[in-house]
Amino acid sequence: MAHHAICGAASSSHDITGDAMTKHLRLLACLLATLPCVALAAPQSAKDKALSTRVDRVLTETPVIDGHNDLPWEIRSQFGNVGNLDLAADTSNLRSKTGDDVHLMTDIPRARKGHLGAQFWSVWIPTSVTGPEAVQMTLEQIDIVRTMVAKYPKDFEMASTADDIQRIEKSGRIASLIGVEGGHQINNSLPVLRDYYALGVRYMTLTHGKNTDWADSATDKPAHHGLTPFGRAVVHEMNRLGMLVDLSHVSPDTMTAALEATKAPVIFSHSSARALDDHPRDVPDDVLRLVKQNHGIVMANFYPTFVSQAVANWNADRAGASAKFDALYVGQPERAKAAMDKWKQAHPQPKATIAEVADHIEHLRKIAGVESVGIGSDFDGIEVTPEGLDGVDTYPALFTELARRGWSDDELADLAGGNLLRVMREAEAVAERLQAQEAPSHATIEMDAAAKSDSKNGTAGA
Ligand SMILES: [Zn+2]
Repeated sequence: MAHHAICGAASSSHDITGDAMTKHLRLLACLLATLPCVALAAPQSAKDKALSTRVDRVLTETPVIDGHNDLPWEIRSQFGNVGNLDLAADTSNLRSKTGDDVHLMTDIPRARKGHLGAQFWSVWIPTSVTGPEAVQMTLEQIDIVRTMVAKYPKDFEMASTADDIQRIEKSGRIASLIGVEGGHQINNSLPVLRDYYALGVRYMTLTHGKNTDWADSATDKPAHHGLTPFGRAVVHEMNRLGMLVDLSHVSPDTMTAALEATKAPVIFSHSSARALDDHPRDVPDDVLRLVKQNHGIVMANFYPTFVSQAVANWNADRAGASAKFDALYVGQPERAKAAMDKWKQAHPQPKATIAEVADHIEHLRKIAGVESVGIGSDFDGIEVTPEGLDGVDTYPALFTELARRGWSDDELADLAGGNLLRVMREAEAVAERLQAQEAPSHATIEMDAAAKSDSKNGTAGA
């Protein structure tokens, strides 16, 4: 914020350089010299301005479709309901209902500045909530999205199809779709899955951080090594409905099993490349090759831990230090906290950069193809962001970085929204075909127990 006031002349709304380091050095230089920053900024600025003007034009034509934003949970947990905050004003410095500072990454003015054209709003709930209560809480989260969209009719409209997204974007509003972020949220019920679809859910992530009864999470102990028979029935019913199968959060075995089972292109709504950061939330190269064959899409996540190996390592070191001090100063939480504070001072968290996010996108492109990459920021679901990517106003900075690396206008447009629209259209065509052939599925989780006892008795294949 401060540098906008100080260097106001150099900071027109779209002069995002995408080169945070240079920008900060320049800022430092103008602060030290107390010179008008315009003079110092001028040479770099001309080139950056040309790039950002180009990006501006591309994103006006093909706005950003972001695969994942967790604002609905922030609304619930920090404000109670949509009535208690104003998304038409800046939300970067707010007070929660309990008086805590809240720094949201999403509001309407910033979304406009960032050329956000469509958003999949996540209706995540914790994995500790299960059974019928998970269904109720999911319905309440869906209500938050629908109430939010209804509250700002000039800015938002619910979208059901790819055509809807384009029509709503043309009308100058932000198309809103819903993603259910965890298979536990259907409570093993295909009727519930169908009801979610009817309410606007257009993807479901097969798991969140824990296994479901029918699919494995990347961050849990493998139990099913892929998908159970009911898990495959869930994928098929999603194909029949036209609900996108989201493989973020699932284990590599489950990714592969879902890619084998699906008849439509899949998505990864918010995941990056595991070759660049060995985190289980990212996608391995062998799976990226399958995504290419499947015509699916991987929408790159901005979360520093998934983007930067240095940040991932730092997180592990911090966990180690914390465990050590808890053991060393057992029963003395104040000493443990003091030791941890000192550790943090000596080991500042490394910052992820826009360039690193761009590296992931280029790797995804290299292995899966330029037609299979997209954006899945995870804004408002993450507590830190890369420098310069701190909210929904900052997408152009990332596109400017890629433009600087030689991406063409068409490639930038595909990354922004073209690829996701293609995936959705293919999934819609598959749904239309399947609906002409098949009735809604009556499969239940009981089929898994039956399959297990069959295989024990040697009556079923592998
Ligand atoms: Zn997530």
